[in-house]
Amino acid sequence: MVTYALPQEIRGLVFDMDLTLYRNEAYYNSQVGNQVALLAADLGWTVDRLQGELAQWEDNFRRENGGRKPSFGNTLLGALGYPIARSVELRRRAIRPEDYLDEDLRLRGALKLLASRFRLVLVTNNPSDVAVRTLAVLGVSDLFPRIIGLEESGHSKPHPAAFDLAYQYLGVPPPTVVSVGDRFPVDLEVPLARGSGGILVEAMEDVYALPELLGGEGKS
Ligand SMILES: [Mg+2]
Repeated sequence: MVTYALPQEIRGLVFDMDLTLYRNEAYYNSQVGNQVALLAADLGWTVDRLQGELAQWEDNFRRENGGRKPSFGNTLLGALGYPIARSVELRRRAIRPEDYLDEDLRLRGALKLLASRFRLVLVTNNPSDVAVRTLAVLGVSDLFPRIIGLEESGHSKPHPAAFDLAYQYLGVPPPTVVSVGDRFPVDLEVPLARGSGGILVEAMEDVYALPELLGGEGKS
Protein backbone atom coordinates (compact mmCIF):
# COMPACT_ATOMS: atom_id res chain seq x y z
CA MET A 1 0.00 0.00 0.00
CA VAL A 2 1.14 3.53 -0.74
CA THR A 3 -0.60 6.55 0.78
CA TYR A 4 -0.58 10.09 -0.60
CA ALA A 5 -1.49 13.28 1.27
CA LEU A 6 -4.05 11.74 3.65
CA PRO A 7 -6.24 14.52 5.11
CA GLN A 8 -6.49 15.21 8.87
CA GLU A 9 -10.26 15.10 8.61
CA ILE A 10 -11.77 12.50 6.27
CA ARG A 11 -15.46 12.57 5.35
CA GLY A 12 -15.76 10.71 2.05
CA LEU A 13 -14.10 7.82 0.20
CA VAL A 14 -14.06 7.23 -3.56
CA PHE A 15 -13.51 3.55 -4.40
CA ASP A 16 -12.35 1.96 -7.64
CA MET A 17 -13.78 -1.54 -8.27
CA ASP A 18 -11.69 -3.79 -10.55
CA LEU A 19 -8.54 -5.13 -8.86
CA THR A 20 -9.36 -2.93 -5.85
CA LEU A 21 -12.39 -4.72 -4.30
CA TYR A 22 -11.17 -8.10 -5.55
CA ARG A 23 -7.92 -9.63 -6.78
CA ASN A 24 -8.49 -12.13 -9.57
CA GLU A 25 -6.20 -11.82 -12.58
CA ALA A 26 -8.01 -14.60 -14.50
CA TYR A 27 -11.27 -12.69 -14.21
CA TYR A 28 -9.68 -9.39 -15.11
CA ASN A 29 -8.02 -10.91 -18.20
CA SER A 30 -11.29 -12.58 -19.23
CA GLN A 31 -12.91 -9.16 -19.53
CA VAL A 32 -11.00 -8.41 -22.76
CA GLY A 33 -10.78 -12.06 -23.92
CA ASN A 34 -14.56 -12.51 -23.75
CA GLN A 35 -15.21 -9.24 -25.57
CA VAL A 36 -12.96 -10.39 -28.44
CA ALA A 37 -14.69 -13.79 -28.64
CA LEU A 38 -18.20 -12.30 -28.67
CA LEU A 39 -17.34 -9.58 -31.15
CA ALA A 40 -15.64 -12.05 -33.54
CA ALA A 41 -18.82 -14.15 -33.46
CA ASP A 42 -20.97 -11.03 -34.11
CA LEU A 43 -18.79 -10.11 -37.09
CA GLY A 44 -18.60 -13.66 -38.47
CA TRP A 45 -14.79 -13.50 -38.17
CA THR A 46 -12.37 -15.90 -36.55
CA VAL A 47 -10.92 -14.78 -33.21
CA ASP A 48 -7.46 -14.81 -34.85
CA ARG A 49 -8.53 -12.44 -37.59
CA LEU A 50 -10.08 -10.00 -35.10
CA GLN A 51 -7.05 -10.18 -32.77
CA GLY A 52 -4.77 -9.54 -35.77
CA GLU A 53 -6.72 -6.43 -36.83
CA LEU A 54 -6.76 -5.05 -33.26
CA ALA A 55 -3.07 -5.80 -32.66
CA GLN A 56 -2.07 -4.04 -35.88
CA TRP A 57 -4.06 -0.92 -34.99
CA GLU A 58 -2.67 -0.95 -31.42
CA ASP A 59 0.92 -1.23 -32.73
CA ASN A 60 0.40 1.80 -34.97
CA PHE A 61 -1.18 3.73 -32.11
CA ARG A 62 1.73 2.98 -29.80
CA ARG A 63 4.25 4.02 -32.44
CA GLU A 64 2.47 7.33 -33.01
CA ASN A 65 1.83 8.02 -29.30
CA GLY A 66 5.15 7.49 -27.61
CA GLY A 67 4.46 3.88 -26.61
CA ARG A 68 1.17 4.62 -24.80
CA LYS A 69 -1.29 1.72 -24.63
CA PRO A 70 -4.82 2.64 -25.84
CA SER A 71 -7.84 1.50 -23.81
CA PHE A 72 -9.63 -1.52 -25.28
CA GLY A 73 -12.72 0.59 -26.06
CA ASN A 74 -10.60 3.10 -27.96
CA THR A 75 -8.89 0.25 -29.86
CA LEU A 76 -12.29 -1.03 -31.04
CA LEU A 77 -13.27 2.49 -32.03
CA GLY A 78 -10.04 3.14 -33.94
CA ALA A 79 -9.61 -0.26 -35.59
CA LEU A 80 -13.25 -1.01 -36.44
CA GLY A 81 -15.18 2.24 -35.95
CA TYR A 82 -17.00 0.48 -33.08
CA PRO A 83 -18.63 3.26 -30.98
CA ILE A 84 -18.13 3.54 -27.18
CA ALA A 85 -21.91 3.16 -26.67
CA ARG A 86 -21.72 -0.28 -28.32
CA SER A 87 -18.65 -1.10 -26.25
CA VAL A 88 -20.79 -0.57 -23.14
CA GLU A 89 -23.24 -3.18 -24.52
CA LEU A 90 -20.43 -5.56 -25.42
CA ARG A 91 -18.93 -5.30 -21.92
CA ARG A 92 -22.34 -6.06 -20.38
CA ARG A 93 -22.49 -9.34 -22.32
CA ALA A 94 -18.80 -10.27 -22.01
CA ILE A 95 -18.05 -9.66 -18.36
CA ARG A 96 -19.09 -12.44 -16.01
CA PRO A 97 -18.19 -11.69 -12.37
CA GLU A 98 -20.47 -14.56 -11.30
CA ASP A 99 -18.11 -17.06 -12.97
CA TYR A 100 -14.98 -15.89 -11.10
CA LEU A 101 -15.70 -14.10 -7.84
CA ASP A 102 -17.07 -15.18 -4.46
CA GLU A 103 -18.45 -13.57 -1.33
CA ASP A 104 -15.68 -11.86 0.65
CA LEU A 105 -16.59 -11.53 4.32
CA ARG A 106 -13.38 -9.71 5.26
CA LEU A 107 -14.09 -7.13 2.55
CA ARG A 108 -17.62 -6.78 3.87
CA GLY A 109 -16.36 -6.29 7.42
CA ALA A 110 -13.90 -3.59 6.36
CA LEU A 111 -16.37 -1.73 4.15
CA LYS A 112 -19.06 -1.88 6.83
CA LEU A 113 -16.77 -0.13 9.30
CA LEU A 114 -15.80 2.46 6.70
CA ALA A 115 -19.44 3.04 5.69
CA SER A 116 -20.34 3.71 9.34
CA ARG A 117 -17.82 6.57 9.45
CA PHE A 118 -17.54 7.99 5.92
CA ARG A 119 -19.66 8.54 2.82
CA LEU A 120 -18.70 5.97 0.16
CA VAL A 121 -19.03 6.12 -3.62
CA LEU A 122 -17.90 3.65 -6.29
CA VAL A 123 -16.44 4.96 -9.56
CA THR A 124 -15.76 2.35 -12.27
CA ASN A 125 -14.80 2.17 -15.95
CA ASN A 126 -17.24 -0.71 -16.29
CA PRO A 127 -20.97 -0.17 -16.95
CA SER A 128 -22.86 0.29 -13.66
CA ASP A 129 -24.92 -2.89 -14.10
CA VAL A 130 -21.65 -4.87 -14.24
CA ALA A 131 -20.71 -3.12 -10.99
CA VAL A 132 -24.08 -4.03 -9.42
CA ARG A 133 -23.48 -7.69 -10.32
CA THR A 134 -19.89 -7.59 -9.07
CA LEU A 135 -20.84 -6.04 -5.71
CA ALA A 136 -23.65 -8.60 -5.34
CA VAL A 137 -21.25 -11.53 -5.86
CA LEU A 138 -18.78 -10.04 -3.36
CA GLY A 139 -21.62 -9.53 -0.86
CA VAL A 140 -21.20 -5.77 -0.43
CA SER A 141 -24.05 -4.29 -2.54
CA ASP A 142 -25.71 -2.50 0.38
CA LEU A 143 -22.50 -0.68 1.33
CA PHE A 144 -22.28 1.38 -1.88
CA PRO A 145 -25.46 3.43 -2.19
CA ARG A 146 -24.10 5.21 -5.26
CA ILE A 147 -22.29 3.72 -8.28
CA ILE A 148 -20.91 5.91 -11.08
CA GLY A 149 -20.39 3.75 -14.17
CA LEU A 150 -18.99 4.23 -17.65
CA GLU A 151 -22.38 4.88 -19.28
CA GLU A 152 -23.16 7.72 -16.84
CA SER A 153 -19.86 9.60 -16.94
CA GLY A 154 -19.46 8.96 -20.68
CA HIS A 155 -15.67 8.80 -20.29
CA SER A 156 -13.21 6.34 -18.82
CA LYS A 157 -11.18 7.38 -15.77
CA PRO A 158 -8.84 9.22 -15.53
CA HIS A 159 -11.16 11.64 -17.35
CA PRO A 160 -12.31 14.14 -14.67
CA ALA A 161 -16.04 13.72 -15.53
CA ALA A 162 -16.40 10.59 -13.39
CA PHE A 163 -14.65 12.22 -10.41
CA ASP A 164 -16.79 15.37 -10.76
CA LEU A 165 -19.89 13.21 -10.35
CA ALA A 166 -18.34 11.48 -7.33
CA TYR A 167 -17.52 14.77 -5.54
CA GLN A 168 -20.99 16.05 -6.37
CA TYR A 169 -22.57 12.99 -4.76
CA LEU A 170 -20.34 13.05 -1.68
CA GLY A 171 -21.20 16.71 -1.09
CA VAL A 172 -18.10 17.30 1.06
CA PRO A 173 -15.01 19.39 0.23
CA PRO A 174 -12.46 17.51 -1.96
CA PRO A 175 -9.70 18.01 0.67
CA THR A 176 -11.76 15.81 3.04
CA VAL A 177 -11.97 12.98 0.49
CA VAL A 178 -9.62 10.02 -0.11
CA SER A 179 -9.57 8.07 -3.39
CA VAL A 180 -8.73 4.34 -3.19
CA GLY A 181 -7.60 2.35 -6.24
CA ASP A 182 -5.04 0.01 -7.80
CA ARG A 183 -3.74 2.30 -10.59
CA PHE A 184 -2.11 5.62 -9.73
CA PRO A 185 -2.66 7.42 -13.07
CA VAL A 186 -6.25 6.17 -13.39
CA ASP A 187 -7.56 6.32 -9.83
CA LEU A 188 -5.44 8.78 -7.87
CA GLU A 189 -3.90 11.45 -10.09
CA VAL A 190 -7.05 13.54 -10.63
CA PRO A 191 -8.22 13.38 -6.98
CA LEU A 192 -4.74 14.37 -5.75
CA ALA A 193 -4.81 17.37 -8.11
CA ARG A 194 -8.13 18.39 -6.48
CA GLY A 195 -6.55 18.33 -3.02
CA SER A 196 -7.88 14.93 -1.98
CA GLY A 197 -5.77 12.13 -0.51
CA GLY A 198 -5.00 8.87 -2.27
CA ILE A 199 -4.38 5.25 -1.33
CA LEU A 200 -2.82 2.86 -3.82
CA VAL A 201 -3.82 -0.68 -2.84
CA GLU A 202 -1.57 -3.54 -3.94
CA ALA A 203 -3.25 -6.53 -2.28
CA MET A 204 -6.55 -7.37 -0.56
CA GLU A 205 -4.81 -7.11 2.81
CA ASP A 206 -4.40 -3.39 2.08
CA VAL A 207 -8.16 -3.01 1.68
CA TYR A 208 -8.90 -5.04 4.80
CA ALA A 209 -6.56 -2.73 6.75
CA LEU A 210 -8.28 0.52 5.69
CA PRO A 211 -10.55 0.94 8.75
CA GLU A 212 -7.54 0.82 11.03
CA LEU A 213 -5.43 3.04 8.79
CA LEU A 214 -8.16 5.67 8.47
CA GLY A 215 -8.90 6.28 12.10
CA GLY A 216 -8.02 3.41 14.39
CA GLU A 217 -11.33 3.17 16.26
CA GLY A 218 -13.68 0.31 15.53
CA LYS A 219 -11.04 -2.22 14.67
CA SER A 220 -12.75 -5.60 14.20
MG1 LIG B 1 -8.88 -0.93 -10.93
